[in-house]
Amino acid sequence: MPVKNRFAELLPEIIAWRRDFHAHPELMFDLPRTAGRVAGLLRGFGVDEVVEGIGRSGVVAVIRGRTDSQGRAIGLRADMDALPIEEETGLPHASTTPGKMHACGHDGHMAMLLGAAKYLAETRAFDGTAVLVFQPAEEGGGGGDEMVRDGLMERFGIDEIYGMHNWPGVPLGTFAIREGAVMAACDQFRITVTGRGGHAAKPHQAVDPVLVASQIVVALQTVASRLTDPLSPVVLSICTLRAGTGAYNVIPQTAELRGTLRTLDPDLRVTAEAQLRRIATLTAEAAGATAALDWMPGYPATVNAPEPTRAAIAVAQSVAGTVDTDFPPQMAAEDFSYMLNARPGAYIFVGNGDSAILHHPGYEFNDEAICFGASWYAGMIETRLPLE
Ligand SMILES: [Zn+2]
Ligand SMILES: [Zn+2]
Repeated sequence: MPVKNRFAELLPEIIAWRRDFHAHPELMFDLPRTAGRVAGLLRGFGVDEVVEGIGRSGVVAVIRGRTDSQGRAIGLRADMDALPIEEETGLPHASTTPGKMHACGHDGHMAMLLGAAKYLAETRAFDGTAVLVFQPAEEGGGGGDEMVRDGLMERFGIDEIYGMHNWPGVPLGTFAIREGAVMAACDQFRITVTGRGGHAAKPHQAVDPVLVASQIVVALQTVASRLTDPLSPVVLSICTLRAGTGAYNVIPQTAELRGTLRTLDPDLRVTAEAQLRRIATLTAEAAGATAALDWMPGYPATVNAPEPTRAAIAVAQSVAGTVDTDFPPQMAAEDFSYMLNARPGAYIFVGNGDSAILHHPGYEFNDEAICFGASWYAGMIETRLPLE
């Protein structure tokens, strides 16, 4: 099963869908044009069922195979949302909406899964049901979580689910994947340090929250460098330090820190949070101040199950020949994790070649990846649901 010839025939059409999505980016859950077009195309392919409004604005298509001897269903997922970025590619199909851009390639993911949908609806060379999932709000809105909470898996009887993301730097025409954690859990936190404000000339009559916040920033570096196993990745970044009014001679009353904690191991996620809390509170206490912590849990780690990962590798190898099966885990996060927490499956990277990085105003999805990605999607259905 090399790249399927049908996708070479469909390629101009798939590219046209992709560029149309690209020219009309929409954000988060607010995807009326995008989701409407996805649903309209799916209906035009003659799929068996199209359901809109799952997880607010998600779209699900059901395609039944020639036979259904086992009653099994395999899910394939693409994301639909763009980013609040001003596009700088200068391409003919560049964003027509100021301040919005498909800078993560979700336009390409939708187009590839639509191509697979058209092919699968034509051929139906599988035993069971293909469930094609188009999700909203991957970029920070947890659309994947919303779809799972909305009963995605139960309602469509999904047994396994597979996702794909393009990856700049992975060579065109190749895939990359790993078993286990492939993307990180990403939590956010805010620490409010309260001291006692006063005159800058009389520090002994005040409790300086700027100094305490600075000590906390430094002390928190020990979470990654001293307190956790160096072989298990953890990233702790303080990204905002805010205090004072701009004055030169006033010790402020409070200081605020904001940051992110990223981990691959679920147990480490819990212990690192506890260490962070302890360091923040006790460092403040030692100085006679207080530290209040607001914890905002984000996406869990994206974890590829062993057997589905092997299946994903086998299909990718047959499509592309070259698969990096030990791709380094990424400390970015991905809400396909919620779907993988609900059902076994795998998440694979398709090479976008030597392009600008994701979320860059000069980024562009590489249309030459389409035949590989669409063939992989379709191949997952045909190999996980083989005809007798
Ligand atoms: Zn993104
Ligand atoms: Zn993305």
